[in-house]
Amino acid sequence: MAIVKLPESVIMKIAAGEVVTGTFAVVKELFENAIDAHADNIIIEIKDGGKTYIRITDNGVGMSEEDILLAVQPHTTSKIKEVEDLYSIHTYGFRGEALAAISRVSRMKIVSRRKNENIATSIEFVGGEPINIKKVAASSGTTIEVRDLFFNVPARRKFLKSAAIEGRMITEIIEKFILATNVSISYIKDNKSIYSISKNMKLLEKINVIFPETSKEDFFRIDYEEPWFKIKGFISHPRVTRNNRTAQIFFINNRYIRSGDLFAVFEAGYGEMLESRRHPYGIIFFDIDPKEVDVNVHPQKLEVKISESRIIYNKFKRIIRETLINQTKFKMAINIE
Ligand code: ADP
Ligand code: MG
Repeated sequence: MAIVKLPESVIMKIAAGEVVTGTFAVVKELFENAIDAHADNIIIEIKDGGKTYIRITDNGVGMSEEDILLAVQPHTTSKIKEVEDLYSIHTYGFRGEALAAISRVSRMKIVSRRKNENIATSIEFVGGEPINIKKVAASSGTTIEVRDLFFNVPARRKFLKSAAIEGRMITEIIEKFILATNVSISYIKDNKSIYSISKNMKLLEKINVIFPETSKEDFFRIDYEEPWFKIKGFISHPRVTRNNRTAQIFFINNRYIRSGDLFAVFEAGYGEMLESRRHPYGIIFFDIDPKEVDVNVHPQKLEVKISESRIIYNKFKRIIRETLINQTKFKMAINIE
């Protein structure tokens, strides 16, 4: 076969498949952009598990017409300027890939107004091509609508899961954002309000909303600090458990992390206090000096590398154990037996 250089449009569609691994990835990227834009009120609406309709509205800094047209180009970002900036990242985004990727594989509409402008710009894109640009009235901030994901990449569209499963994955990602951010969040799924969270809500209240089977009394606070890391959050009483680990939610520097190591260390802290095959709740925030963490590992940024993870893990296990022994009657129970 002859070797040919792929056209840009094909390269972009292939790259888009790596960023947009499901409808949840679209929601994640758009939500993170809203946070990076300093929004404190974010509305997420989805239909059919996000397959036909996703819309995210924020009250952040907004974009001008030029900004919008640039933002959908590959590798355009306002968040870093040079490689050194990667070591002090304070925003979720930095690759400048998301809007480019999503716009190439959907029908996207962006309506945005900067605070100091009095008119908004609305641009519709089909497969990344702007087809309709106009000035409209809108409140300041940004609304991004994504319809018919992968309409122009049938092979990828086939790989989307059912509306029920895609929708559940979106709900799970939103729950993580509710826990990790201090903004007001409304989540509307198929015209039904699922979450309406005010930015003043405390972490434990949010935990009780997301896990309605729990109450305040089921949890103990942990709060530990060293010069280069902090561990904070809530852990459940050893009797308050599930038959899976869906309520073990860990964040490193406010990014949700799914780590088999952390699950294991967390439950090791409970040790013999747990009944077999039961899994406690833990919503934990690790704050680690950014110099010790590498988030630039995978486009989805679900994994991070920590240089001194053993020290942190051992500390984490000890804190859990000490908290549980102090807070429960467990010590007494052992003595009596
Ligand atoms: P990244 O987030 O990595 O910079 P994106 O493709 O997600 O890349 O976004 C590109 C740029 O578009 C951002 O750097 C930002 O300047 C702008 N942008 C995207 N979403 C918003 C938003 N909701 N409000 C304001 N600006 C935005
Ligand atoms: Mg982004």
